[in-house]
Amino acid sequence: MKYVILLGDGMADYPLDELGGKTPLEAARTPNMDAIARRGVGGLLQTIPEGMGAGSDVANLSILGYDPKRYYTGRGPLEAANIGVELKDGEVAFRCNFITVGDGKIEDYSAGHISSEESEELIKALNSRFSLGRFYAGVSYRNLFVTHMGARLLATPPHDALGRRVDEVLLKPESSPEAAQLNQIMLESRSLLEAHPVNRRRLEEGKNPANMIWLWGQGSAPSMEPFREKHGVSAAVISAVDLIKGIGRYAGMKVVDVPGATGLLDTNWEGKAEAALKALEDVDLVYVHVEAVDEASHAGDAEQKVAAIEEFDRRLVGRLLDRIDFPCRIALLPDHYTPVDMRTHSRDPVPFIISPWAEGGDGLASYSEKAIKEKGSLGVREGHLFMEVFLSGDSTSSAL
Ligand SMILES: [Zn+2]
Repeated sequence: MKYVILLGDGMADYPLDELGGKTPLEAARTPNMDAIARRGVGGLLQTIPEGMGAGSDVANLSILGYDPKRYYTGRGPLEAANIGVELKDGEVAFRCNFITVGDGKIEDYSAGHISSEESEELIKALNSRFSLGRFYAGVSYRNLFVTHMGARLLATPPHDALGRRVDEVLLKPESSPEAAQLNQIMLESRSLLEAHPVNRRRLEEGKNPANMIWLWGQGSAPSMEPFREKHGVSAAVISAVDLIKGIGRYAGMKVVDVPGATGLLDTNWEGKAEAALKALEDVDLVYVHVEAVDEASHAGDAEQKVAAIEEFDRRLVGRLLDRIDFPCRIALLPDHYTPVDMRTHSRDPVPFIISPWAEGGDGLASYSEKAIKEKGSLGVREGHLFMEVFLSGDSTSSAL
């Protein structure tokens, strides 16, 4: 038996007026996801444990069977792993976003999805200016800062602070000398970045400038046992984003790079499908993560979210279904809700499908939040117990 997990980041949503009272999943044409649903059983997964932030890091750790309450140390170290930055004892990795600030407020958490090439130039400039730690270029606006302090500070994710004043959402507590030093770096980055040719060019082209850095998501290296030892099957991960690939690295999964995987609507959908099929020649399980749906949600763009779901369905899910001619169990789910009208993640339990199911299906006609809430026979499950149910195909394992 082979196993495929299809994960649409932030795919679940609430009914929207602009979609005639439907959720994006209901509004999108998804014949392939619906085919998976018709043969499967559904349930709801609490991927975000009580008291933890609704991040993709926490949610994806849950789904992979690593209880975030035990394994999660922060997003920064997970992303660091994927760009080859190994954290030593005492080192702390922060996610370093390039953001756009206007009128003292956070306007864009991604600096207009600045290109990786431009980011790299700005990272070089930051390293020549600041000596309290080292900056590393990642993908687009998602970069890293490694230092020796600040592990315990409270940091606000910039996508949760859109429209807020910078001085209100800096690192806390501001009374801490470490917070003061790190906040100073963020504030001082402004003059350096604003004067940089990359940003002058972006402004001329009508793009959002990367005129400030934002440090958040920090932590030290987590210690995770290999996926294969934990679950008894070998696994690979396919994703455009460092965070998910970094989790894969800490979990000892095979991390597959797909050329042209961007995390956006223009991603190499077919390439991901091909890479998944190829990976299954060597491993038992492949985890295919798609970021584009989440990005559309953060942009507050319902139409784009529907488009991303349809592309996912047609060009990745459909292509896979066409080519899977061996015994294979498929799971379809988001990691968390990213409601378009909130433009950030929410904590609602997410709808999942496991298909085909040995004991027959739930009679679902399509894959949607409502259909699964009404008919999903697996009920509500704790996120980190999902992998057990998925691999065993047995609803009695890890019941609530
Ligand atoms: Zn996510």
